[in-house]
Amino acid sequence: MLKSKASSNATDQRNVTRLRVLEKIRATGTISRIDIATALETSPATITSATADLLSAGLIAEIESETPSKSARRGRPRVQLKLNGASHLIAGVKVARQQVSVILVDFEGTEITSYTHPLDQARMAPDAFAKKIRAVLDQACASANRSLADLSGVCIGIAGLIDANRNFVHWSSSLTERNVDLSPLLSEVLPCPAFIENDANLVAKAEQLFGLGKGLKNFLVVTIEHGIGLGIVLDGKLYRGERGCGAEFGHLKVQLDGALCQCGQRGCLEAYVGEYALIREATIASEATDPRTLDDIVAAAKAGDARSISVLARAGQMFGMGVSNLINLFDPECIILSGARGRFDYLHSDEVMARVQNGVVSVDAPLPEIKVNHWGDSMWAKGAAAYGIEQVSILKVRELAAHAN
Ligand SMILES: [Zn+2]
Repeated sequence: MLKSKASSNATDQRNVTRLRVLEKIRATGTISRIDIATALETSPATITSATADLLSAGLIAEIESETPSKSARRGRPRVQLKLNGASHLIAGVKVARQQVSVILVDFEGTEITSYTHPLDQARMAPDAFAKKIRAVLDQACASANRSLADLSGVCIGIAGLIDANRNFVHWSSSLTERNVDLSPLLSEVLPCPAFIENDANLVAKAEQLFGLGKGLKNFLVVTIEHGIGLGIVLDGKLYRGERGCGAEFGHLKVQLDGALCQCGQRGCLEAYVGEYALIREATIASEATDPRTLDDIVAAAKAGDARSISVLARAGQMFGMGVSNLINLFDPECIILSGARGRFDYLHSDEVMARVQNGVVSVDAPLPEIKVNHWGDSMWAKGAAAYGIEQVSILKVRELAAHAN
């Protein structure tokens, strides 16, 4: 039977309220109904109804507060609400060039286990990719004495141009094909919903929830690993672009007809700054036949090798120019440079920061702060888990609405 527009609007509104309540409980840890109503500027009756739905779905739990809040009457403990961590098991997955990292979390975001699996191929055919995800998740769950059937949702972060709304990969350095709809492939191998997201967006999410972006409204996260990624948070929300193709900082053109990029175009920032680009440049100049790693280049530069020094210096100049362009475009509160410790020091040296300063259109106001966050490999997977929790919350609240109608 077709629902009337008015009734479907009312359902949508109820879902929005339920999600806002859930978000509030997540942000505070424990909170009473009346404090939620005050914080959300909503009537206590609406909050009581929303929390009743969330309680019946098992997403939240009641606890008796031993120390009643100031507004409570003396001697009467107020019932507090918290998330029900045990209600859902969620996996965050990051697919990198040489490994897949998995983190399993409960609905409260508490880590259950983390697991890393080496990859022998950086690029996979789409069906092989889906099977690999399944195999690694099986192993990760087994390592925590859980099974794949226990998962309520999986979020997978990969590099590339991703339309997260429909799990569609326009292009990724992890896949051998372009224009891949991963939904049917993943639902074939996984018993739970799967969500694909650009990996830099997941780092921005992690920075916003647990990292240096906490409490900031407008900030950018530049991720540095094999390639260069960007996550944009505007007005507290992740900005993805219309087709999921935005924020491609690594493919900002910095040179007319320049070096070949792994995206197939020429002159991209990544073709000068990305790990593969540096290895390519240093290998061309080197007498050695063995492929070199970024660590070798950094070590050689530290030992005084002129070629390695010049490769890293040029990368720094290009990167500084790119970051100053970001500031000119977005005027953020803060830019967070995120990558593995010690591996990208040449990208935030004093010379690079001076180049950033020189490239920013000058006004009589201080530059946005540039912070460096050395997260380990788990950063990506943690961001994926955070996004997974958000998506599972949306699905569960929607199911609630479907059952109620
Ligand atoms: Zn490119």
